[in-house]
Order: sequence, then structure tokens, then C-alpha cells
Amino acid sequence: MWIDTHCHLDAPEFDVDRDAVREQARASGVDLCVLPAVQRRDWPGVQALAARHGDAYALGIHPLYVPQANDEDLAALDQALSACRDDPRRVAVGEIGLDFFVPELCTPEMRERQWHFYLQQLYLARKHGLPVILHVRRSADLLLKGLRQVGVCGGIAHAFNGSAQQAQAFIQLGFALGFGGAMTFERATALRALAARLPLEALVLETDAPDIPPHWIYRTAEDRARGHAQGRNTPAELPRIAQVLAGLRGLSAQALAQATTANARRVLPGLERLT
Ligand SMILES: [Zn+2]
Repeated sequence: MWIDTHCHLDAPEFDVDRDAVREQARASGVDLCVLPAVQRRDWPGVQALAARHGDAYALGIHPLYVPQANDEDLAALDQALSACRDDPRRVAVGEIGLDFFVPELCTPEMRERQWHFYLQQLYLARKHGLPVILHVRRSADLLLKGLRQVGVCGGIAHAFNGSAQQAQAFIQLGFALGFGGAMTFERATALRALAARLPLEALVLETDAPDIPPHWIYRTAEDRARGHAQGRNTPAELPRIAQVLAGLRGLSAQALAQATTANARRVLPGLERLT
């Protein structure tokens, strides 16, 4: 079996055929998806979606949604996490983190605001005894600083694309690193080297659907200028993405499935009850 540890199945891109997309993923061997929420108004929808398909969810405020968020949303997150305390599908706080790639999020004010929401959500994760699902974009060192400051019980650094040293630091704090579509591009040599050399125990798989399409779906700017729409990534791509990782590591798909499933259950212990 495969677990897609990061899939935005609630995204508007799936409005027309969401149930069919989930069924297609199941048919291709993806038994379980973890659905991270990105903003307060999406939490009930993500919870309902996970219930409908037997999946897991995380509640949180994504750094790209920090400009619109306010402190009331943090209080609401605290309440929402309490309200679903007995829901076995609640497995993490997420998606939270820091994004220092998007220019509008890099002003001194926005950096500080992102830091505030990140830190407060770490405190909530600690309070509720939950791991976290982290968005890491040019922000690994500061994310690590927050983790050391607050002390949470691990989680996943999603779409990891940092250095080997940063990877090691996350691993030491009880994190697994999420690998997905970005690793399928041959030009991603540093990322592929990491995927090949990190300890197997540190790896989990993800699609980040509908984002980060693997190379076989991705359309270049040139293709798009010629009228080919950007392909839509879906959780059904996970086994093929996994095949790339299996190839990089010289493992069978079965061995990789076993290892990454065990890893996902270790860093998101709530998954044990769902699989
Ligand atoms: Zn995401």
C-alpha cells in the first residue's frame, strides 16, 4: 500500500471530479491520503472530505494564507483541535511553516507575521500533543529554530529541498522528509542525491496534488504558449513518483512502500488507527 502524506484534495482544481480523483488514486494503490488544510474556512471541508474517503487530515494556517489570517483564527484553531480530539482522522497540525520565496511574504513585517503564526501554531501542536506538517521554502533554518524553541513531537518537512545538514537537523528532531514530484526531474540533481542518500527511515512520499506536478505531467512555459494547459497533479501519481525514488535507491517498489508506510506511521502516529 501507498500513503500520500500530502495532498490538497480540497483544492478548487478538484471541484469537478473530486470523488473520481480519490477513487482513481485508490485504484492505483494509494490507500490513504493525508489532507493538510491551509486556512480556517477550509477546516470543516477538509474534515468532511477525510471522513468521506477514509483519509486523514491536519488543521492549520499555511504561510501563504498568513496575510489574511488573524489572532482569532489561532483561537479558532485551538478550539477546532479540541473539538476533534476523539476523531481518529485528526493526525497533525498543518500545513504551517515559513515561506521566504514569495516576494510579498518577505517584507520585514510579513516575515515577523509569518513567524508569529508559525510559533503560535507550534505551541498549539505541543498543547494538543500533535506532530506538525511543515511548509519549507527557503526557511529551513528558521523553522528548525522554532522547533527547538517550542519542542514539538516531530512530523513531516514537506516538499523538502534543503541541504543534507538541514535534513539531518530535521531528522534529529523526529521529522521525516517528504519527497514528491520535484524529485522526478533529472535536472534536480541535489534533491535526487539527497533522496538517494538520506537514511531510508527518514523518507515519506507525497504528491502535494494539485501542485508540484511530476515531469511527465509538467508543461513548460513554451508548451503552455503553444496552448497546452499545465497538467493537473493528482494523488494517483504517487506510485509512479515512488518508482523514481525506488530507482534512485535501488529498491523494489514493494520494499519502498513498506518502509515509507512505516515511516509515515511513525511520524504521524495517528495513522496507525486508520491503516
Ligand atoms: Zn501543501
